[in-house]
Amino acid sequence: MKRVLAGVGIVALVAVIGIGTAKALMSGEAPHAAAEAKHDAADAHAAPAAHDSKDAHEAPEGEKKSILSHLIPGKDGAHWGYEGSTGPENWGQIAEANKACASGLEQSPIDLTGGVDAEVSNIALHWKPAEWNVLNNGHTIQVEGKDGGYATIDGERFDLLQFHFHTPSEHTIDGRNYPMEVHFVHKNAEGRLAVIGVLMMPGGENPLFSTIMEKAPKEEGSASVGMIEQRGMIAPIDGIYRYQGSLTTPPCSETVLWTVLSTPILVSQKDVEAFQAMFPMNARPIQPVNRRYVLRD
Ligand SMILES: [Zn+2]
Repeated sequence: MKRVLAGVGIVALVAVIGIGTAKALMSGEAPHAAAEAKHDAADAHAAPAAHDSKDAHEAPEGEKKSILSHLIPGKDGAHWGYEGSTGPENWGQIAEANKACASGLEQSPIDLTGGVDAEVSNIALHWKPAEWNVLNNGHTIQVEGKDGGYATIDGERFDLLQFHFHTPSEHTIDGRNYPMEVHFVHKNAEGRLAVIGVLMMPGGENPLFSTIMEKAPKEEGSASVGMIEQRGMIAPIDGIYRYQGSLTTPPCSETVLWTVLSTPILVSQKDVEAFQAMFPMNARPIQPVNRRYVLRD
């Protein structure tokens, strides 16, 4: 029975992430009937929606963490990093809550080579400029706030909570990293996450990224960054990769519907260097694809 169910799981995954349903859903925003039970709010890491990242950072040690605090674990979580005894190969051992980092079979990031052609461009952005803050959480620079609008993916609404950066890129294409990657983190009403990844490379000017790097605190802390037009950091959605995966930081919860754009954005070398001066390396190595499909449109 287990074996049979495993096969069904793959079929269900493909159905959820787009084949056959994408077209019908492109024209509307009706709730997606095929919510994937495995990745729903029953996940132990799902947290009350109202619990924002700031609260999480002020929470005492040992208190139940919100999913946002897991995305941006600062002083409140088990100590982890990108090298040595607290590096990615040991995340699963640092805390019981992190065991998916070691034993999960749908981990992120992955190499996106060889996607299966499918119609999955069923994504619409309804982001709204907002007065947001820029946070240095000790692991990355993160821009966050309220009322940033939402995205619809497969007709399902995911609110935009924050975006943050990695260097080098976490996802690779044909085995190659880009210099940086930005992750736009969205969450739906049930606590499932949808992250849109955009690869970044030097060779142009990006005023939004320049502003963020100018305002970003050099030490852990938060600063006002003024009105943020999130769209300033995204390329045209003319090609995407789609797969089911995880957070790329502890606890590596497998609750993330990933969309990575195939077109990178251009930023200035100076701003990339400014980020790398603060975080020389904050990318998790690529993980096995295992029995997943990467869909490409
Ligand atoms: Zn990230």
